[in-house]
Amino acid sequence: MTKALFAVSECAPLVKTGGLADVAGALPGALADHGVTVRVLLPGYRTVMGQIGKAATVAGYKDLFGGPAKLLACTIADLDLLILDAPHLYDRDGAIYGDATGADWPDNPERFAALSKVAAMIAADGVDGWMPDVVHGHDWQAGLTPEYMHALGVTTPFVFTIHNIAFHGNADAGKLAALGLDPARFTSEHFEFWGQISALKAGIVGAAKINTVSQTYAEELLTPEFGIGMDGILRARQADLSGIVNGIDIDVWNPATDQNITTYKSAAGKSANKKALRKTFGLGPSDGPLCVLVSRLTEQKGIDLLLDALPTLLERDGQLALLGSGDPKLEIALLEAADRHENLSVKIGYDEALSHRMMAGGDVVLVPSRFEPCGLTQLYGLRYGTLPLVALTGGLADTVINASPAALTRGVATGLQFFPINAQALANAFARLCDLYRDNQTWKTMQRNAMKQPVDWETSAVAYKDIYAGLIEPRP
Ligand code: ADP
Repeated sequence: MTKALFAVSECAPLVKTGGLADVAGALPGALADHGVTVRVLLPGYRTVMGQIGKAATVAGYKDLFGGPAKLLACTIADLDLLILDAPHLYDRDGAIYGDATGADWPDNPERFAALSKVAAMIAADGVDGWMPDVVHGHDWQAGLTPEYMHALGVTTPFVFTIHNIAFHGNADAGKLAALGLDPARFTSEHFEFWGQISALKAGIVGAAKINTVSQTYAEELLTPEFGIGMDGILRARQADLSGIVNGIDIDVWNPATDQNITTYKSAAGKSANKKALRKTFGLGPSDGPLCVLVSRLTEQKGIDLLLDALPTLLERDGQLALLGSGDPKLEIALLEAADRHENLSVKIGYDEALSHRMMAGGDVVLVPSRFEPCGLTQLYGLRYGTLPLVALTGGLADTVINASPAALTRGVATGLQFFPINAQALANAFARLCDLYRDNQTWKTMQRNAMKQPVDWETSAVAYKDIYAGLIEPRP
């Protein structure tokens, strides 16, 4: 039995802002089937503390970056959790990374240094008689872990997964002492990045193995365009970098059992959900495809491209039901566009149950991202027979088979891809989509293909298990 400690800043179903939480919530269960037990170390945000109920205190810290803290152990949704209860860092109004205005918490460096430091201390001393064989950190929030492990003289292997390289977790060099980092290691070989402390860089440099969440994104990260300043650092670690595509929790996302929808086993059963979805979004009947989009609303997600390309879809009787929240400018632009077009309906907010109903009721799920490490909504779409229309990038390139003439002839297509990633190419894809949608037979074949495509964690869990095994097995 291999023992892995996850250090991660969000984990479904307890706390989620994006795909990272889905991975942290689903991968442990998939790894358990392959002889790996995972304990998930998670910050005790107010929302998390409200859900854990009774929990045993398994460690205490007198002063963890400015206040006392303790570690609580509990099991929720089959997840073996270690909750870092540090009220001075995590018990506050607002969101998990920032305040109600969307500004990052100024003490984010300390908040996530705490997560990293506790991960290192667990690697050093164990907890509750349990000692991890491997520490697995996710994104910059866990990036300083190998620095603290080094300071404690711990040699447990550290695996680092990059879910999104756009977030570096930089802190001012003036925070070196406050974060308890060794000033002698504030160099370009370690965690100094253009004069700042970079938690992401610390994770990359200090990891025995690094991976990201799709093969294509792993390759893209080595280029200046996608590496966002980290490409050189990653090129230096190329031999230890791999891409492992995310899966989804196929029990949570299962059209045959989903409690949020009228369940169905083949795409033919979608029609009741489609009718209900149109009603929810105030959309009338239409002959064109009903598209759905569920996303954070940011520049990364290509929402501005969508706004420019949308007339091509709407003029052809296509419809769009959109659920998301994020950049206020994009929210306003979407709401204004919805006022002008009866076939566009927008809901601003975050609603897990509605997102299931959208996957069940839509014909097409849109993911027009400028970059997309893996992307999850296209995987939900495949499982629900809701064909993805996606940008050709990152995990979207790896998980969708474009309806090219060759793929259609061979009957293997599962969706549509567009490239280059701009509004014109997206508009062209909308035109293609509307033609394809009218070809009933082809559409049904694509839906069947999509629903058959494996989107679970099976293959990828084995890939993670193999990474751990390669690091902890005694060398000959
Ligand atoms: P990212 O992690 O970059 O946000 P992913 O596609 O990997 O993108 O994961 C996003 C996750 O968050 C998906 O599970 C998606 O369904 C969910 N999600 C995003 N926005 C919303 C929303 N407004 N309501 C419900 N779920 C959402």
